[in-house]
Amino acid sequence: MKFIYSLFVIQLLFVVSAFSQDFDFFYFVQQWPGSYCDTQKSCCYPSTGKPAADFGIHGLWPNYNDGTYPSNCDSNTPFDRTQISSVLKRMKSEWPTLACPSNDGINFWTHEWEKHGTCSESVLDQHSYFQTALDLKHQTNLLQALTSKGIKPNGESYTLQSIKEAIQESVGYTPFVECNVDTSGNSQLYQVYLCVDNSGSSLIECPVYPHGKCGSEIEFPAF
Ligand code: 5GP
Ligand code: 5GP
Repeated sequence: MKFIYSLFVIQLLFVVSAFSQDFDFFYFVQQWPGSYCDTQKSCCYPSTGKPAADFGIHGLWPNYNDGTYPSNCDSNTPFDRTQISSVLKRMKSEWPTLACPSNDGINFWTHEWEKHGTCSESVLDQHSYFQTALDLKHQTNLLQALTSKGIKPNGESYTLQSIKEAIQESVGYTPFVECNVDTSGNSQLYQVYLCVDNSGSSLIECPVYPHGKCGSEIEFPAF
């Protein structure tokens, strides 16, 4: 009897662990290079040259519905560059690094995989993780969403509301816009967050938004 009971408990634990979720959704975060570079900290172009004047990928971050998030989940699966060889060219153009000193991007991708990607490896292995982010960038096409509404990266200011509406209308989901400040202290469009379901397959409305505030009018600097 005791033996059967133990078997039952083991089975129950197995079922619970199989269905318990490692995380609830992803933030897909894109950065405007002009706003990364015109700050006090400045930036360095990657060794492959100045990136395109387009949003670049920052990361795909597993998150919980309560706003907290897991990080650095598995030191046994370090970044392995051989797994991204088929997307390396796209990585260089669509996920460029702007940190100093100038480097080829491997450091940035390693950091993103190890801090965030290892927390979603039950659904996206390393190749799929990077491929999914590249596909999401293509799908969301933020620069097109904004410029088609007359919101151009020309150093002018736009209302935060108009930026959010342009993205909402084109992408279909409400973004979270993060601002930073340039060297003159102006608030500007830095990063755009969209949410993705926990299989990495569809955009969703965000269950929770990050904290932070932009002014009601923000600059969209050139790059
Ligand atoms: P910061 O403090 O600059 O906003 O964020 C620093 C880093 O913390 C981000 O680049 C990201 O790796 C992580 N981070 C910040 N906020 C969030 C969040 O809401 N969710 C997740 N998953 N990571 C975050
Ligand atoms: P997170 O903020 O995702 O934890 O990580 C950002 C880390 O990646 C920082 O250590 C930062 O120096 C490095 N990094 C390298 N290139 C970039 C870039 O182009 N943008 C941002 N935001 N961070 C970068």
